[in-house]
Amino acid sequence: MSKNIIVIGGGIIGLCSAYYLQKEGHQVTVIDKSDFTSGASFVNAGYITPSHFIPLAAPGMITKGIKWMFNSESPFYVKPRLDLDFLKWTWAFKKSATAAKVEQSIKPIKDINLFSRDLYETMKKSTDFNFHYEQKGLLMCYKSDEVGEEEWEIGERGIKEGLKVENLSSEAANKLEPKAGLNVKGAVYYHSDAHMTPNHFMPEMINYLKSEGVVFFPNEKVLDIEMSNESISKVITDKQVLTCDEVVLAAGSWSPLMTKKLGLKIPIQAGKGYRINVNRETNISIPAILCEAKVAVTPMDGFTRFAGTMEVAGINHSINPNRVNAIAKAAKSYYNNLEISENEKMYASCGLRPCSPDGLPYIGKSSKCKNLTIATGHAMMGWSLGPATGKLVSEIISNKKTALDLSPFHPDRTF
Ligand SMILES: Cc1cc2nc3c(=O)[nH]c(=O)nc-3n(C[C@H](O)[C@H](O)[C@H](O)COP(=O)(O)OP(=O)(O)OC[C@H]3O[C@@H](n4cnc5c(N)ncnc54)[C@H](O)[C@@H]3O)c2cc1C
Repeated sequence: MSKNIIVIGGGIIGLCSAYYLQKEGHQVTVIDKSDFTSGASFVNAGYITPSHFIPLAAPGMITKGIKWMFNSESPFYVKPRLDLDFLKWTWAFKKSATAAKVEQSIKPIKDINLFSRDLYETMKKSTDFNFHYEQKGLLMCYKSDEVGEEEWEIGERGIKEGLKVENLSSEAANKLEPKAGLNVKGAVYYHSDAHMTPNHFMPEMINYLKSEGVVFFPNEKVLDIEMSNESISKVITDKQVLTCDEVVLAAGSWSPLMTKKLGLKIPIQAGKGYRINVNRETNISIPAILCEAKVAVTPMDGFTRFAGTMEVAGINHSINPNRVNAIAKAAKSYYNNLEISENEKMYASCGLRPCSPDGLPYIGKSSKCKNLTIATGHAMMGWSLGPATGKLVSEIISNKKTALDLSPFHPDRTF
């Protein structure tokens, strides 16, 4: 049965939800408070990441976070705040950062990543719209033996999980990437990963959805949601009052502002990340993570993107030049002669990753609201998991059996 559905948020999660819902024959409206360019989805590194099967909340992260708190160039920063939501989130993060919890999360994270990568491939093969998608793998580049050993331990775990992973010497990494001048001790090479150009994909997807009858309300902010009989009865924006059969909440880092109105507890903190685009030849052809610096490097369609930093410091888009400089410094140190110019740094931009405390997204219906599907909290993997999330959302709303077990992603889970 065709339903009238409102999607709040037009980032990758909202757009992919609209894509699969429309294909199921539903009437879909996407509302975004921006022109679709201000979310994390526009600025990210564009990796499709089966390799990222270890969640951020892992043993050792709290100690690293405390150590890095005092370094303005560090890749991970948590700003201490006397804010109840933040304190609860930090406590839940600490409780999730155990070996046992990480172990439980590996399979669901890997499975949803592989499912999503397959869906991107199907989307690419379809004639719906054209976009840049390449599967060249991901090089986890390291400079120290200690980090190399840590990375290879994770790589070996990846092999056990069925991924193809190789431990490359510096020579072997340079052979794969012959013109880039990689200055590394070695690299762990995940063949499973792919990459894309998000800021080219998003407008293409929007144009396609419009041509299929999906309605878009850009620059319109959802201010309130009204409930009656445990269902959403009205969606109130700054321009109009709307009614619908079902609502999908895909508002990224802003999602808790909505769930709070409904009395739901969906802990999310914004994790700010920066990106610098280099619009000239860098000779980099394979995506890489510069491990010690935690900088992501992606050869996109016509430019190279350098991205990094996880700053848990509330909802704001202020740019800290020290962290932008740290990304540029890492680029120069890992790629001989790669100098990011002051002008390129000046155009650095940032986005807010919606981070759940345990590193798993929230996908599903809360038991407290019958017609709301929550699709958020994807942290560092939201680009990767867009299609899988959208597909699962459409299966939930269409009352179909879901392709994956949704229990690890349940919005009512406790920490
Ligand atoms: C620097 C950086 C690098 C990253 N690299 C990768 C990567 O390589 N691979 C990967 O998988 N992930 C990556 N990520 C993470 C990924 O970008 C995010 O997880 C993903 O974009 C989240 O998508 P989203 O749709 O949930 O949120 P967003 O893209 O933030 O979209 C949410 C949308 O909701 C809208 N909205 C919010 N509130 C309202 C309201 N009240 N009314 C109307 N609209 C509203 C916002 O305007 C926004 O457009 C990276 C992130 C960053 C910042």
